[in-house]
Amino acid sequence: MRTNESSQSAQPASAVSRREFLAASSAALLAGTLAPISSGAVESPIAPKLALNGGEKAVKQLSKLPIRWGEPERERLNAMLDQDSLFYWKGPQTTLLIERFKKVCPVKYVMPCSSGTAAMHIAVAAAGIGPGDEVITSPVTDIGTVIGVIYQQGVPVFADLGASTYNLDPAAVERRITPRTKAIIAVHLCGNPCDLRALKVIAAKHGLVLIEDAAQAWGAKYRGQPIGTIGHFACFSLQNSKHITCGDGGLVGSNDERFGPLLQKFGDKGFDRVKGGLFESFATNYRMSEPQAAVAAAQLERLEGIINKRARLGNLLTEKIAGLPGLLPHQVHPEDRCGYWFYFFRMQRSAFRCDRAEFVKALAAEGAEVSAGYIPVPLHRNPVFMKHSFFEGRWPVREFGLTTMDYSKHQTPEAEAILQTGIRVTIHEAMTEDYIGSVAEAIRKVARHYVA
Ligand SMILES: *Cc1c(COP(=O)(O)O)cnc(C)c1O
Repeated sequence: MRTNESSQSAQPASAVSRREFLAASSAALLAGTLAPISSGAVESPIAPKLALNGGEKAVKQLSKLPIRWGEPERERLNAMLDQDSLFYWKGPQTTLLIERFKKVCPVKYVMPCSSGTAAMHIAVAAAGIGPGDEVITSPVTDIGTVIGVIYQQGVPVFADLGASTYNLDPAAVERRITPRTKAIIAVHLCGNPCDLRALKVIAAKHGLVLIEDAAQAWGAKYRGQPIGTIGHFACFSLQNSKHITCGDGGLVGSNDERFGPLLQKFGDKGFDRVKGGLFESFATNYRMSEPQAAVAAAQLERLEGIINKRARLGNLLTEKIAGLPGLLPHQVHPEDRCGYWFYFFRMQRSAFRCDRAEFVKALAAEGAEVSAGYIPVPLHRNPVFMKHSFFEGRWPVREFGLTTMDYSKHQTPEAEAILQTGIRVTIHEAMTEDYIGSVAEAIRKVARHYVA
């Protein structure tokens, strides 16, 4: 997951490029103020030659890499080194992290933990997911979304997605509900909020727990409300590729009086640090430590700037590629804020004379930071699911008759299509609006070239 990385080197930009000249002359040509370029011209001014075929690149500058950490993180780490304990419980860095997290995601109960996967596992355990319980979620996500479900002997059930939001389609979720369904995990893919109102209605109607996987959705807002505050649980990741990071880490939160008080013990070997006493529940050790909390607390101060910028750039890209025949921009509700962990658009295969690989190759040649797809296949198309081989080749809940789930027969056609036709564009906070403009130009140029 290399959204915030780039291996490109610097390259000088010429004063007036051939592309700019051609763009200007084609505009003049359309306005009828300039005679057509004589027959000797190597390329048409209206359809500039692709960089792939030796033409001028649409993206002339390279995006600067963001500087992701520095003095504020160093200050917190220095303060941490003066402490006599680096343990999380009542640690000053952890306390500060929780305080700052609550400003971003106002929930009463928070447990910092070792990863986003850990945050999900704690939520699932605190929600009371047990053997054979079904949890409906997206098949297009990080596998960390469902690892905790499987370890609790629950059964992930994958529902299909919105064609351009890449998030759970509420109608598809409803079709997957059975008497065994206990929870829905709403994954806000790329930081784009799910249709939480609809999912909440379904959850209430069937008595289900709603867990928000906000690992990619730091700083996102659903109809103005902070992401993570609408479901029963909010789960975030601080892994290196995410918007903010401490290398690896996570946070799980809840406002619900039934679940919130359970978060701490389900991340801390089942030990209740408030009440003490004997072990009444069973859990693993997912504790964060003070060094991670120090970095994460400093990172949270950067969040608003990062998300504000990414939201602006992603929305700008949509504006600039909207209406191009055969392309489906990343669909975000106008009242929501998406932090574009990456930007994802789709091409309609029949609208073009080339396949996705060729399209992506042409875009990359133009200088755009793009790649084909996201994860290679929906989660349940991976061998470990197809063979139901989670625990040393076995899956106890299936062997014991607690589920009849057969992932080799599970169908999510829109999810498959999204992964086969999606093109991923890197967006990060060090990019400028001009730069995104040139990326849009590259997309327009390549789309026009290949349009059927
Ligand atoms: C990254 C991610 C996770 C897992 O987080 P880790 O910190 O890598 O364990 C879970 N869900 C989604 C949607 C993610 O992007």
